[in-house]
Amino acid sequence: MTAYRGRFAPSPTGALHLGSAAAALFCAAAAMQARGALVLRMEDIDRPRVVPGAAEAILDDLAWLGLRFHESPQLGGPYAPYVQSERLALYEAAIDALAEQGHVYFCDCSRAEITRAASAPHAGEEGPRYPGTCRPFGMRKRDFRRPPAIRLAVPDDDRALVTVHDRVLGSYAEHVGHATGDFVLRRGDGVFAYQLACVVDDLAMHITDVVRGGDLASSSARQLLLANLLRPRDTPAFTFAHVPLLVADDGSRLAKRDKGVPLRDHRAQGHDPRALVRAITRAYGHDLGDTPAPLDELAATLDWSRLPRESVRVPAIVTR
Ligand code: GLU
Repeated sequence: MTAYRGRFAPSPTGALHLGSAAAALFCAAAAMQARGALVLRMEDIDRPRVVPGAAEAILDDLAWLGLRFHESPQLGGPYAPYVQSERLALYEAAIDALAEQGHVYFCDCSRAEITRAASAPHAGEEGPRYPGTCRPFGMRKRDFRRPPAIRLAVPDDDRALVTVHDRVLGSYAEHVGHATGDFVLRRGDGVFAYQLACVVDDLAMHITDVVRGGDLASSSARQLLLANLLRPRDTPAFTFAHVPLLVADDGSRLAKRDKGVPLRDHRAQGHDPRALVRAITRAYGHDLGDTPAPLDELAATLDWSRLPRESVRVPAIVTR
């Protein structure tokens, strides 16, 4: 059996909040339970969205929570993460490799054009399914109307049908061609897409298990497809666990500005991090009592079947 390797991969686009803390806790507990390794990766390539100082604040919050990471690319101790903005050559090389196999093409369609051309409205956050308008032109340079994005040409054969194993959501098959269509690997502004960078890194870091927030569940099939195209012989099959999102009492999504939601509010109030860990894990079906080492206890008792599949209400400690 392959040794368990997990990762926690925050984006420094804001402070660590309770929802990301919940994902981080389960991520760490799962790695501990499997006696595996946990890698920390800072996903900072979307420069326009990066908030100065957020990366440092996130590392500080993770340390306060008591999380430990096992690998460090520099001699920086357990909180020196891999940093995506230092790894752009790898993402570039992945696009080249896909291009050699004929799996990519330039696309200069605007969002409005895609919406008009899409046959069916799409409820997802990522906009409508791309109808493949630019696919016939491949990587030929032409008179682009705007700086072009690069899209993946999702194979027309059965490689597009991907089986996802998710410890929380169960196992299911998804046809990426039908569900998402040809998706963006590099945006017109030159920024590598999250889907690409994430998979290239998960492969490079030999990740076996992806534990993250439930809002990313819809990415699993695309990421597996990309992994299969980039490593056709190794059949990498990440196992996923999508930790349901925390929501406010009325069921609405938590805005980062909400009082009590950023971890630093709790730190500022002098809360004991262990009390916060116990409150969060209790909300997710794991009552650890008043154990002095809640993370160890969570690792010892973690049972994915006890997690709700739907969103979870913010625990009382933060709404008081
Ligand atoms: N960087 C992503 C986020 O913070 C998570 C990526 C992942 O875990 O796959 O939303």
